[in-house]
Amino acid sequence: MPGSHYSVAIDGPSGAGKSTLARRAAGELGFLYVDTGALYRALALQALQEGVPPGDEASVALLLETARVSLRHEGGTQLVFLSGLDVTLDIRAHEVSRAASDISALPAVRAFLLDRQRALARETDVIMDGRDIGTVVLPGADLKIFLTAAPEDRARRRHTELTARGAALTYDEVLRDLLIRDKNDAERPLAPLKPAPDAVLLDTTGNTFSQSLALILRLIRDACPERFQ
Ligand code: C5P
Repeated sequence: MPGSHYSVAIDGPSGAGKSTLARRAAGELGFLYVDTGALYRALALQALQEGVPPGDEASVALLLETARVSLRHEGGTQLVFLSGLDVTLDIRAHEVSRAASDISALPAVRAFLLDRQRALARETDVIMDGRDIGTVVLPGADLKIFLTAAPEDRARRRHTELTARGAALTYDEVLRDLLIRDKNDAERPLAPLKPAPDAVLLDTTGNTFSQSLALILRLIRDACPERFQ
């Protein structure tokens, strides 16, 4: 499995470095990088724009009837579109993170996004990052990595990213929000954040970026030997 393409699932809590590591690894190995959190964020942005409470199942179900979310991949960069508009940067706002965590717990939302994530993995070799890729979206992935790091490390990374983008948030606020999102993601009944039984657990606490990247590249090369012989 799965089909004729290789797939790598990278799951883990917010701020563990999944997206930066996955994007770089995909670039080096010639895989497509898919950031699935962006899909949940795009729907959350639409809910915020339309004044729909992101935890209200009935209203969100209505919103899904008109939602037009799509991804486009250009030279290693993933662009996210909502109703034809490029929202790649807008979906990174702090309030969108919160709303994405709420909206992602709704079964209708997860069902809506499941097929389009699987379709991407059927088309090409992918490294897909998220929360439930190894457990739900691609249970037959050639390699599953569960990437984590101490909450303080993760909050520091997120805080640096957000302040670089001009957000006025303290480290403590970022840490508090990150812990709330982790708890939401891990405790929801549907597709909770947890390692697949056959996932490789990778704790990047204290690692440099290059150390973590080297570990991930080796795991992928070992898991897909025919691809890299
Ligand atoms: O990864 P990112 O922080 O961008 O994801 C935003 C939110 O989307 C997460 O907090 C999580 O609640 C949700 N998500 C999910 N399943 C995925 C990817 C993201 O529930 N596969």
